[in-house]
Amino acid sequence: MVEKIRTFGVTNNRVLDIMNIIPRHLFIADGEKTSECYSDYPINIGFCQTISQPYIVAYMTEQLEIKSTDKILEIGTGSGYQTAILAQLALKVYTIEIIPELLATAIRIIDLLGIDNVKFLNENGYNGWQREQPFDKIILTCAPEIIPENLISQLSKNGKMILPLGKFNQSLCIISIDEDVTTRKEDLPVRFVPMVKEL
Ligand code: SAH
Repeated sequence: MVEKIRTFGVTNNRVLDIMNIIPRHLFIADGEKTSECYSDYPINIGFCQTISQPYIVAYMTEQLEIKSTDKILEIGTGSGYQTAILAQLALKVYTIEIIPELLATAIRIIDLLGIDNVKFLNENGYNGWQREQPFDKIILTCAPEIIPENLISQLSKNGKMILPLGKFNQSLCIISIDEDVTTRKEDLPVRFVPMVKEL
């Protein structure tokens, strides 16, 4: 799986090494063949949600330029696979999931892997995590139709945020803050589940 991702242009060895180590099949419900779990496509995790395509996980993680001192906010824990990867790269990960059953499973698997620098919240991610802000990096793995400005306000003054944006035609959007200057860049076309507006 990782070799394939490398051929697609992800070059950050730290990200690739971690993806080689984290067992993706553990985050996918029983019934899926283990070999299928290492193919480069999204897979159903129940509740009409999917675990993201490995290449996109790698790409978004690389784009975040994570430092070992970073505090990261993730919206859309889902299976917890992306969370586990972020947790290996950063100091601490704060992850929010709206569906309690998915969150419970993610907590169990991350715990099983002995990863202990993640805090979980069952909430609507639109509010961010007021009490723990600011964050060095923010990643959304569900797609809002417009950029949630409230989340940008929870970024640190050199922060970076990556999100899938749009309804039918989505693309990744990368927002970087450099002191007082905020820049937005439109990136790859993608397809993520929508970010739910109401609980
Ligand atoms: N990174 C995850 C992808 C999960 S899919 C993985 O690899 O498994 C996106 C997740 O976002 C779903 O679990 C969905 O329930 C969640 N989600 C959607 N809208 C949300 C919202 N407003 N707040 C928090 N989570 C949300």
